[in-house]
Amino acid sequence: MFKIARVGLHHFEEPCLSGKRGSGTIFFSGCNLRCVFCQNFEISHGGKGLEVSEDELIYCMEYLQDLGAHNINLVTPSNYTVLLESALKRAKQTVKFPVVWNSSGYETVQNLKKIEGLVDVYLPDFKYSDDVLAWEYSHAKGYYEVAKKAIAEMRRQRPNDVFDNDGIMQEGVIVRHLVLPDALENTRGVLNAIAEIDKDMFVSLMGQYFPTPAVKDHIKLSRRLTAEEYEEATDMFFEAGLKNGFSQELDSATEEYVPDFDLDLLKNILNK
Ligand code: SF4
Repeated sequence: MFKIARVGLHHFEEPCLSGKRGSGTIFFSGCNLRCVFCQNFEISHGGKGLEVSEDELIYCMEYLQDLGAHNINLVTPSNYTVLLESALKRAKQTVKFPVVWNSSGYETVQNLKKIEGLVDVYLPDFKYSDDVLAWEYSHAKGYYEVAKKAIAEMRRQRPNDVFDNDGIMQEGVIVRHLVLPDALENTRGVLNAIAEIDKDMFVSLMGQYFPTPAVKDHIKLSRRLTAEEYEEATDMFFEAGLKNGFSQELDSATEEYVPDFDLDLLKNILNK
């Protein structure tokens, strides 16, 4: 069984994923990281969600396709990789839009090989080059090496970034990095590592961090990013030799962008 918390169109992904009609997101419950600052805390840590079968999951993908989604965007899917291998093989018979793998970046090459050819666009996070921060903030051991190898494997599987006539990504890789307060050297290490894999790879440099109640008293995480910090991170992007990227307005750092995980909506979609 799968456990999911939300199925719906999402308009706040990168423009080449959201387009005009929205990205068709399916949020999976549980996450293989435990970030203290997580903005989707109730599903990633709390496990909120509804159990669904493979048939029901495929129905959700078809539902999103019928709504006009540009793609099927699997959010935090890594815990379900083995099950998704089977579901995606079946879904490919009816779902004709690109499948996006929107993950924490903390996954094994072995698991990623299981979904080779089934995922069209990889959208991993690359959160840390500093393993001390990775442990302190996300309880992830050896995050840097694991994520670097995972992203290199994603790029091996999808070496070309392909867009349709409307600018919607059909295949490729976009690496997301959330710039954290007081952690610019961590950002520099991440950007340099991405450049070592492929300088042409798209990078989404995210400045939208805002403190959730869980970190309101944290010595470093209790504030938003400053404009100077984000500007410095942008300079680091170019210093690393990267060429393709997305940046963000800092005033987009707001809770409005956090989706509502209302299970009644999900039950209505599934007639449960
Ligand atoms: S990887 Fe993302 S979804 Fe998972 S716990 Fe961290 S911030 Fe939350």
